[in-house]
Amino acid sequence: MNAIEFLGTGGTRTPTQGTTCVRVSKHCVIDAGNLINTLGDNVFTIEHIFLTHSHLDHIIDIPFLADLFVTQKSIALKIYGLKATLDDLRQFIFNHRIWPNFEEINLIGHENKTIELIEIIPEQAYHIDGVILTPFKTNHTDGSCGYKIEKNGTGILFSADTYKCPRIWELLDENPHIHTLVIEVSFPSSFDKLAFDSKHLTPSLLKSELEQCQRDDFSVYAMHLKTLFAPTILHELNTLHLLRNGGKVLSDHDTIAF
Ligand SMILES: [Zn+2]
Ligand SMILES: [Zn+2]
Repeated sequence: MNAIEFLGTGGTRTPTQGTTCVRVSKHCVIDAGNLINTLGDNVFTIEHIFLTHSHLDHIIDIPFLADLFVTQKSIALKIYGLKATLDDLRQFIFNHRIWPNFEEINLIGHENKTIELIEIIPEQAYHIDGVILTPFKTNHTDGSCGYKIEKNGTGILFSADTYKCPRIWELLDENPHIHTLVIEVSFPSSFDKLAFDSKHLTPSLLKSELEQCQRDDFSVYAMHLKTLFAPTILHELNTLHLLRNGGKVLSDHDTIAF
């Protein structure tokens, strides 16, 4: 793959749109909001899931993947996240109450466990399938992160869910080879109180954030729009000219080339 593919782009689930899921290589995705419905039988090619945080819209397919993989795979599904994200998965999902603890359950006929939870460290690079993923802390939940996604000397910055986050703008200024920013915009500008309380962005917040960056030569794509407000958010993004340099609001199955 010489592009990343957006398998899920919505801020909520609808019959026609999934939630956050980005395929960065044949075997690797960021977040697991929409793997099973989009990949069908090809879902068995997925070996690595890098998580941005533990909110349900980003992890929802993981329990069902474990269920599918336990009879079909011979190596563990590797799930990467910052410590707080992995703690949440262990405490609230794979706890023998909500779902079996697949960290302890062997793949049928194999010595390997079904899933393996692997802690990642902010600002450290991870190499998978020729792609370099570097997590950076964001301002959303305890343990939330975005990713710098690099391949062949170019890069894409993926914020995932975040409120105001100076590190995004530092990274863009420090890395002129990053040609694209993919950022969330969840609510219309009039919802600034809800945006603050839930740690999400609005078009007017994104405008003031973009002004912190010295560069203006990268493309800006938006996703994670809450469906009910999507027409209003799109209108505001266009009025404020925020979808720069060929950017747009992403839909499921859109791709962005490295
Ligand atoms: Zn979230
Ligand atoms: Zn989300």
